[in-house]
Amino acid sequence: MHFAELGLSPEILRAIEEMGYTEPTPIQAKAIPLVLTGRDLLAAAQTGTGKTAAFVLPLLERLKKFANSSVSPAMHPVRVLVLTPTRELADQIGVNVRAYTKYLPLRSATVFGGVNMDPQVQELRRGAEILIATPGRLLDHVQQKTVQFNKVEMLVLDEADRMLDMGFIQDIRKILSLLPKERQTLLFSATFAPEIKRLAADFMRSPETVEV
Ligand code: AMP
Repeated sequence: MHFAELGLSPEILRAIEEMGYTEPTPIQAKAIPLVLTGRDLLAAAQTGTGKTAAFVLPLLERLKKFANSSVSPAMHPVRVLVLTPTRELADQIGVNVRAYTKYLPLRSATVFGGVNMDPQVQELRRGAEILIATPGRLLDHVQQKTVQFNKVEMLVLDEADRMLDMGFIQDIRKILSLLPKERQTLLFSATFAPEIKRLAADFMRSPETVEV
């Protein structure tokens, strides 16, 4: 199986080729075509399986396909929101997104707690189509009105079980309540504990399930 067979554009194929990826991992082969259809996805996958590219690559393809013509090119509203439990994961996803978007006119920003908010505020003011965030710090930015969610089309809950273990459930439900209802939602988790299933039932639309 080749990445080109999954329906990704030349700009994306070129970027992943430069990263040395030759073929999709199992989670990528299953998730990419599904996410491209616009369906919600509930995926059981651990770190190290290539799950980041499994959600980022098809979402980039969808951002590219549905270029937002209703806003001026100078504006970069958040269209993809990725929630992840830790600063290390947020940082790692951010690094990958920057590499995958090397040949696309898309910006990304990463926000996490434990550091000064000011540089993040500057980054958010410049605009980013893809925002990667830890839940608590994202809500700090919501409170300061440095971020808006009205153009969010796609949401990723990464390592959802870890976010719940870390006590982020209230923050996540609060963020979910602020997002447009019309959106695609992807949830990645190592396990599907009852609380994860409840979250999926409350906030997802007949999700397709993928396990590797
Ligand atoms: P992840 O599970 O998303 O944390 O990815 C684990 C590591 O695998 C990261 O360093 C990725 O850059 C790398 N990776 C992801 N997909 C592929 C692929 N198809 N071929 C080779 N490496 C990959």
